Amino acid sequence: MKYALITGASRGLGKAAALRLAKDGFAVLINYQSNKEAAEDTLRQVQEAGGFGELMPFDVSDPQAVETAIEAWQAAHPDEYVSVLVNNAGIRKDNLMIFMQDSEWDSVLSTSLTGFFHVTRRLLKDMMTHRNGRIINMASLSGLKGLPGQTNYSAAKAALIGATKALAQEVAARKVTVNAIAPGFIATDMTKELNEDELKKLIPMGRFGKPEEVANLVSFLASDEAAYITGQVISINGGLYS
Ligand code: NAP
Repeated sequence: MKYALITGASRGLGKAAALRLAKDGFAVLINYQSNKEAAEDTLRQVQEAGGFGELMPFDVSDPQAVETAIEAWQAAHPDEYVSVLVNNAGIRKDNLMIFMQDSEWDSVLSTSLTGFFHVTRRLLKDMMTHRNGRIINMASLSGLKGLPGQTNYSAAKAALIGATKALAQEVAARKVTVNAIAPGFIATDMTKELNEDELKKLIPMGRFGKPEEVANLVSFLASDEAAYITGQVISINGGLYS
């Protein structure tokens, strides 16, 4: 089996990516932080579609939790390795900078950015040894253009883009690709309290994106066909900003 680990796969973009990669033939490792019921629903949908998957709960921002979970998986699968990693787990804690609390800054950075570091570092060696790997980082429009009220989130996603470009050059010779996806507004729990009617007026396509549309891009970047694409940031935003 080929294995893909998707962080934050209990809901939203991660769930759509897990379902799509399972359809593509990967056994999917469904990571989540606390929402077991939603993660079980992702797994059930994978299995109902004829795919293979397993749950792998851990907090991406906790290095010991990452180590324990991956160590246990590797012990149970000594001849296997994870060839596709989708660093998707992320949170928003929006606030204007003058009001921003330490906890709002730290939690956003430690999930999107430090979480990427913990999980990727742990899985990179196997990908390099096997000379095969795909690392796909879920950045954001916010990390490209900056959005007011999101200095923490914009900083985390911009840093993730920088890390994507640097790591891509480190591991290219080992046939491991590293790319970032920068979605605009996609309809998930993360965006459900936004004023969609107002915001969609700003989007040339006139609508929010669907998680499945982002999953199609994940699927392509994870495929053999994308072998020569690395260090890139690919926007998927209905024409909002490029
Ligand atoms: P979502 O619906 O809020 O889902 C977030 C997912 O991340 C959940 O599965 C959650 O698990 C998981 N998660 C959160 N913190 C975690 C942690 N510390 N460790 C492990 N898992 C954790 O969000 P989404 O809209 O799908 O967003 C997914 C990614 O896309 C994020 O990185 C986000 O920044 C990015 N993005 C989203 C949009 C958008 O418009 N939706 C746009 C640009 C970028 P639980 O269910 O256990 O809480």
